[in-house]
Amino acid sequence: MIHPQTKVSFISELVSDGVLARADIPRGTIVWTQDVLDQVFEQAAFDRFPPAVQAQLDRYAHRDALGRYVLCWDAGRYVNHHCDPALRGVGSWFMVARRDIEAGEEITCDYAECNLDEALMCDCADPACRGQIHGRDLLRYAGPWDAEARELAGLIRTVPQPLWPYLLDPAQAGALRDGQQDPISFRDQCAYKGGK
Ligand SMILES: [Zn+2]
Repeated sequence: MIHPQTKVSFISELVSDGVLARADIPRGTIVWTQDVLDQVFEQAAFDRFPPAVQAQLDRYAHRDALGRYVLCWDAGRYVNHHCDPALRGVGSWFMVARRDIEAGEEITCDYAECNLDEALMCDCADPACRGQIHGRDLLRYAGPWDAEARELAGLIRTVPQPLWPYLLDPAQAGALRDGQQDPISFRDQCAYKGGK
């Protein structure tokens, strides 16, 4: 589920729709969580779908740490990639604002966290643009991203959390928030096992 103060909006011909903030959202806010209404498909189920359905999942679903397809039931499936994203995953099933997000700003994440099967070209025009986004970026950037996730977990208690009632595992989120548990490393969330 995506934060309630968001809306789907046309972004550009290149990326089509995306998600914008409708209000200021402070750093540390949980902006997306997997919830019980999202649909989760194993690879075997995906393989049985006709190609047209597979294409929809390839476009709108992300892959979790086990390589399963997760299809968000709400506007969460319209969140676009940016190499300097507004959100970072804390653990494998929710994402937190990594900076103060202003009303009207696009809410983006890093598609490397979506366990891409294939490299994706990016022209987000950010100075830090990687040019090519790949699932193995989780291995390459695990160090700094893990440190950021730990810092963001500590901010959860400092700001309102409207998505808290929808969290997939509130007990685990509470342990992360309270520092009783470290977020799972991005290295261990990587479904890409090809190394490098
Ligand atoms: Zn980029």
